[in-house]
Amino acid sequence: MASEFDLIARYFTRATPSADLGPGDDAALLTPRPGMQWAVSTDMLVEGTHFLPDTDPRDLGWKALAVNVSDIAAMGAQPRWATLALALPDADESWIGAFADGFFECADQFGVELIGGDTTRGPRNLSVTIMGEVPVGQALRRDGARPGDVVWVSGQPGRAALGLAHLQGRARLSEPALGECLRALHHPQPRVELGLALRGLASAAIDISDGLLADLGHILLRSGVSARLQVAVSPVTEGNPRGTPTWMLATYLSGGDDYELLFTAPPESSSAIAALGFEVTRLGVIEAGPPGELHVTDSTGHDITPGRRGYDHFG
Ligand code: ADP
Ligand code: MG
Repeated sequence: MASEFDLIARYFTRATPSADLGPGDDAALLTPRPGMQWAVSTDMLVEGTHFLPDTDPRDLGWKALAVNVSDIAAMGAQPRWATLALALPDADESWIGAFADGFFECADQFGVELIGGDTTRGPRNLSVTIMGEVPVGQALRRDGARPGDVVWVSGQPGRAALGLAHLQGRARLSEPALGECLRALHHPQPRVELGLALRGLASAAIDISDGLLADLGHILLRSGVSARLQVAVSPVTEGNPRGTPTWMLATYLSGGDDYELLFTAPPESSSAIAALGFEVTRLGVIEAGPPGELHVTDSTGHDITPGRRGYDHFG
């Protein structure tokens, strides 16, 4: 039976050239670079809450880091270092090896070094703390949206929720939508390049983890503004009563786990944002109404403002 220290040495110890000291001591050592701020964030994945017990460990390794990289992307920062706190029910090395492969696949893609962590026995729980760098004062915060700003979103929110609905028999998808939605669920792509490109253009940003409207609500409250959106979504489900345009719209607006970026920008930034070359959609406009208030219409102007905005663990 491998010891805790064997597991760390075998699966979680890699070269960390940009740290002064990586895994193996009581703490890692980093030197701050002049002119830079660190963006630091923690996200936890808990079995039964964020993933099912039979989830492919390689996908889980990817996602445990990817959801953290996404928070750094949403700050307009460059991901640099991470620590990993793992609680595992047993030392199943095929599970741990596959998990580590997925984790380092994501780490390599986004230039993240694993500089430390903690490994303990317990109900399966994966907690990552990530650190990124951003020039002082340039981070994309949630509190910068101003009346008149345009509301934008990247990619196609709702895909992860559709993939989950398919797996649970609540929707029926066919290719190519099926593959895209399952990939969004299991292998989300944090929008790091977009976040970096939005520095100096966007006034506020957030990544969509709880649902588009729920996360927009965070920007609105922090910025003290309201918003008016008009959305259009084309159905990708078939032969299923839940695959109606209304249900698709609800999934688009309230499905979580997508890790697209939702951001606001002054109207004079619009052409520069469109010219960046990313898939981005204009959703509406920020207004000077009551903080947090939100009005949503469909493409015909029909009011579809929902009562419930997204996922709340204690709601
Ligand atoms: P301590 O008892 O001082 O907290 P640990 O025995 O928990 O030290 O960890 C030993 C070293 O291994 C530390 O440098 C820690 O950061 C690192 N480490 C532990 N678990 C992991 C992990 N899952 N991934 C990366 N590094 C880890
Ligand atoms: Mg420890």
